[in-house]
Amino acid sequence: LSGGGGLAGVETAIRSGLQHLGAGLAEALLDADPGYRGPRTGCGAGHLAAFVGYRSKTVTTVLGPVRLRRAWYHCPTCRAGLAPRDVELGVAAVRLSPGVRQMVARTGSMVAFAAAADLIGELAGIALTPPRVRRHAETDGATAAELVIAEAAAIRTRDLVPMPPDPVPDILYVAVDGTGVPMVPAETQGRPGKQPDGRAVTREVKLGCLFTQTTLDADGHPVRDPGSSSYLASFEPAEPFGHLVAAEAARRGSAHIRQLVVLGDGAPWIWNLATARFPAATQIVDLYHARQHVHALADTLAFIVPDPPQWLADRLAELDAGNIEAIIAAATDPAYPRPGSKPSTGTRP
Ligand SMILES: [Zn+2]
Repeated sequence: LSGGGGLAGVETAIRSGLQHLGAGLAEALLDADPGYRGPRTGCGAGHLAAFVGYRSKTVTTVLGPVRLRRAWYHCPTCRAGLAPRDVELGVAAVRLSPGVRQMVARTGSMVAFAAAADLIGELAGIALTPPRVRRHAETDGATAAELVIAEAAAIRTRDLVPMPPDPVPDILYVAVDGTGVPMVPAETQGRPGKQPDGRAVTREVKLGCLFTQTTLDADGHPVRDPGSSSYLASFEPAEPFGHLVAAEAARRGSAHIRQLVVLGDGAPWIWNLATARFPAATQIVDLYHARQHVHALADTLAFIVPDPPQWLADRLAELDAGNIEAIIAAATDPAYPRPGSKPSTGTRP
C-alpha cells in the first residue's frame, strides 16, 4: 500500500472480493424463501397454476451473479410457467435485478448503450454486454412511458384526481421545448427528413419541465427550488404531448395554483399547446431564446442598418428592459426598404 498505484489494485480487488461475498450472502438469504405457495397458486390472470418443482435461474445483481432457486408453477389455461417469487423480487421474465436495471436506466438514458455497459463495468464492477443494456433500457423505458401515459389518461378522464401539493406554490412554471436528436437508421426508416435525399437522421423530441421558484439570489434573480423539477420527454406529436403536459401540471396542483407560466422558445406549436391546455397561463418567451431571436433579426437586417453591431446592442438592451415595442419599431423602421420594393432615394441619411 506504499504507492497510489498499489492502492488502485488493492481497492478493486477488495471490492470484487466483497461483491463475491455479498452475492453468496444474498443467495443464502433468498434461499430462505424459495417461493412455495402451496400445490396451487393464482397465475395472475385469474386461473390456478399447479406446482411443478423447483427451478433455478441466475440473476445479475449489484453484487454480481446470484443463483435463485424458486418454486415453479404451470398454468394449464395460459399454457405458461411462472414463479411467484420472481414477481415478488421484481425479476419476472428478466435476469437483471432491480438495482442493476436502475443503473442501466440511468446510464442508458445519458450515453450510448455500449458506453453505458462500459461505465457500469468500470464503476460498479458488473459485466454487461451492450445488447443486454439496450434491451433492458428500452423495455424498462417503454414500461415507464406507458405508466406516465396511463396516469395522464386517468387524470384527463378524472378517474384519478391528484391531491393538491402542500403547501400550494403561488406560481408553477411549465417550460416546453423541442429539439432534434440523432437517430440510428432503423429509427428513422420511412420518416421524411431534411437530408438532400429526403432521409431523416434525427427525430424531434418534445420536452417539458415543470418547476417552482420561490426565492431570489443575491442579484435578485429567481432561484429554482431544489427538487421541484419534474420532466417529460416524448416523441409524440404536439397534441398528445400537450395532454401529457396538462396531466403533469394537474399532478403538480395546477387547479389550485394562482398563476401558471408557460415558458417557450416562441415556436407556434408551443403557444398553441399553451393556449389549448393552459388558457389562463402567462406565456413568456424565455430570455435565452428571445436573445437568440434578436440576434437572428439583427443578422437578417445587417445589410440594411447603418451600424449592425450597435443596432444589435441597442435591441438587446431594449429586450433586457422589457421594451418589446421599441424592438418592433426598430425592426419595422419605415426608412428600411420593404422586401421586393426598390430602395427609396433621399430618405436615408
Ligand atoms: Zn393462467
